[in-house]
Parts: sequence; structure tokens; C-alpha cells
Amino acid sequence: MAKPADLAMDDFNEEDNTVVPIQPTGINVAGTHVAGTLGGFKDFCLKKELSRAIDDNGFEQPSEVQHQALPQAMLGKDILAQAKSGMGKTAVFVFALLEQIEKVAESAKPNVQAVVLVHARELAYQIDHEFKRFNKYLPHATTAVFYGGVSEDENKKVLKNPATRPAIVVGTPGRMNALIQKKILDVSHVKWFVCDEFDRCLDDAPMRRDVQQIFLATPRTKQCMMFSATMTEELRATAKKFMNAPQEIYVDQQSKLTLHGLAQYYVKLEEKAKINELISLLDFVEFNQCIIFTRSRDRAVALATHLKKQQFPVEFMHSKMPQAERLKVYESCKKNNTRIVVATDLFGRGIDIDRINFVIQYDMAGDADSYLHRVGRAGRFGTKGLTVTMITDEDIPVPRSETKETYKEGTILQQVQDRFEMKISELTDKKGQLDAQQYMKQ
Ligand code: AMP
Repeated sequence: MAKPADLAMDDFNEEDNTVVPIQPTGINVAGTHVAGTLGGFKDFCLKKELSRAIDDNGFEQPSEVQHQALPQAMLGKDILAQAKSGMGKTAVFVFALLEQIEKVAESAKPNVQAVVLVHARELAYQIDHEFKRFNKYLPHATTAVFYGGVSEDENKKVLKNPATRPAIVVGTPGRMNALIQKKILDVSHVKWFVCDEFDRCLDDAPMRRDVQQIFLATPRTKQCMMFSATMTEELRATAKKFMNAPQEIYVDQQSKLTLHGLAQYYVKLEEKAKINELISLLDFVEFNQCIIFTRSRDRAVALATHLKKQQFPVEFMHSKMPQAERLKVYESCKKNNTRIVVATDLFGRGIDIDRINFVIQYDMAGDADSYLHRVGRAGRFGTKGLTVTMITDEDIPVPRSETKETYKEGTILQQVQDRFEMKISELTDKKGQLDAQQYMKQ
């Protein structure tokens, strides 16, 4: 187990780091993303209770990132990992924690042993569920989830009662920090600290402050693991300040972040033509579940309302909805009761709904990383998917820009293609270009 570097320290010694680029061999074979030529989960010598749960959940082969990160993660090493969207990075920290969480004597008071942070409430909820899928035979490795929009008194009841106090707490930085500062959540016995989608958590100043405060409230000696599909050099350096000699696992070429099962198209059109194009796409494409991204909450609500009037089975999702409502929509999508969801970037990252095979960007993402996260909602774990992005020639205002800056969607599209070496083709003839074989799951 590593001692974290002081957060204020700038003199981090990069020489100490073990850098493990993901090996290209044995992957992406015939649309599968498991590390096929490497061994199975049994090679990791996991606890039998965890192995059994992995079997029960139908995981047969580890993915690339699981192969690269799990052995070191289970040994307590700090991990900084970049892995493609939908490639199973959640299981790395879920398995590493379930393997290591300690059983306490029945007479002893149980303490919170691990903290898992992520930027969005639904993602926290999803991660908590992942733990619950795999802790079936490890009754001591209990978990609970904490995020805003829910009464703190409820959280207090769970955390103050030794019988319900979980070993692992999952949550969003704001609520977790509030619970710590109010002495409702005691993290003084924490041995494991995880931050998922860490570039998003550390990029946002208030969230970063919360992450730092939580980190500093935990003991100095602990294992720290951070994950994301995207990260800038700068944020990677920031993340390393939380760690000591981390094992770095990263995709060294941006092009490897491409999702190979995903057919990607764009349509050039005027704003006023979007709605008809959307309806024509929804009518034409034989999708299982579809997510439509807009650039603002108002546009998401207006679009969903319009589609509802046209009898489409649609819901919307954005950050200003009451929390109970948000969770209802998330659950309904997960259970495949909602076929189409219109969402803001709130649903752009991490959300894992395996039947989504069609992503429409009614409004193009505001930057290349967001494009990658959004389209990654289809084609999970190497399965097939289709994405169509609408591109107008309008000047789009940069959100929260004081200087009233604007951008063109076409410029972002070009950046995506340059950075990730993706082929995004213009869609001019649906019948000729779109074939259900391309995007329907096997
Ligand atoms: P993640 O990237 O962690 O969101 O995972 C994407 C999806 O892949 C989730 O539905 C996981 O349950 C699934 N998954 C992760 N690892 C494996 C594996 N080794 N075998 C099969 N499915 C997996």
C-alpha cells in the first residue's frame, strides 16, 4: 500500500512510475474487446466468493484494462488508468476493493474502509449497484451510496448506526464532503480511495476542492486509484499528486480510444431541419434503445416534449430535475422500459445501459472528449452501435463564456477526427448507407 504524495507537492518524481501502455495484441478480435489471448479471471487468484460472483454475472474473460490493472490493484498499488469507454474499468476497482476489504470481528465497530467518488449521481448509483452485483458472497463488504438531492438525515441514519454503516461508500464529491465536514461520515479509517471519471471531477473547481478535502480527511496511508477514458496531460499530472508511484495504464495513442463496433456518421443541415431529420432517423433505424444528446436542459425538455406529442416512447434527463425523478428515468432506461431518452451531458459519461445501440447528437458535443464519451454510450463492451451527429453552420455560444465566445460544430467534428483518427462519414443516403447489420447486436 502506498503513501500518497502531499497534495501541495510539485516535485513528484516521475522516474518512480511504472508505465504500462495497453498491449495491442490479442484485442479487438472480431468485435470482441476481451483480452482473448491472455488468461481468464482464475489467473488472478481471486477470493472464491468473488470468483463465484464473477461467474454468476457471466464475466468470462477479463478486458484489456482489467488484465493490465487488476493484478497490481489487488496488491494495493496506486493506479492511474485510462481505458476506453465501456471497457470494464468499473470492475477493476470493484474487484480490487472487494478482494481487499477487511472483515471486522463481530464485537468490533465497523468503519468505513473505502471511498469511491464520481461526478454524477446516477453514475454513483450505478457503481453502487456494480458493488452489489459482486459482493453477494462477501457479506462484510457492504456498500451505500450518497449524493445530493436526497435528505442528509437519511444519510445520517445509515452512517451513524453501526449495523447499517457500510464498509464502502460511493458518492458524489459535494455530498460526501458535506457529510465529512458535518462529522456524519467518518473517513479516518479509510484504506482505499477511488475517483472515477477523475478528469471530470478534477477539472471543475468546486468539485476538485471537494475531492481534495475528502482526500485530506482520509489517512495518509491508503491505496489511491483514478480512472477515466479521457485525460489531458495537465489533469494526469494533477491526479498523480494524489498518488505515490502509481502504476500508470494508458492508451498511448489517442486513436486506440476508437470504439471499433461503432458506425459513425454526421449530417449537415440547418437548425430548422433538425427535427424532421431526427424523426426520419428514429423511424428508419431499427434500434434497441436510443439516447439523444442536446446542448442544454431547455432544449432537452422541448425536444422530448415534441417527440412525446408525436407518440415516441421518450423521457428526458437533466441535472435540474428532482433527484427522485432522475433516478426513475435512469432505472426505466436500465430496465429497457424507456426506449428513447433525451439528455444533456449529464448522461454523457460512464452511464452503462447495454441495450443502447443508437446515439444521436441533436446538438454536437462542445469538445472532442465529450464526443467520445457521448458516443461511447453505444457499443458498450465492444458490441455494435450507430451514432449520427447533426452539424449546423451556426455560431454556438460557449456555455458560461463571459466574452461571448462561440464555436462551430464542424470545427469540433474535425478535431474529433484528427485527434482520435476516426472515420466519421457524411450520411447522405440512409437506405444506401445504413444497414442494421452494422449496428444491431449479434
Ligand atoms: P464499464 O466500462 O465499467 O462501464 O463496463 C461496461 C460494461 O461491460 C458493463 O456492463 C460491465 O458489466 C461489462 N463488463 C465489464 N467487464 C466485463 C467482462 N470481463 N466480461 C463481460 N462484461 C464485462
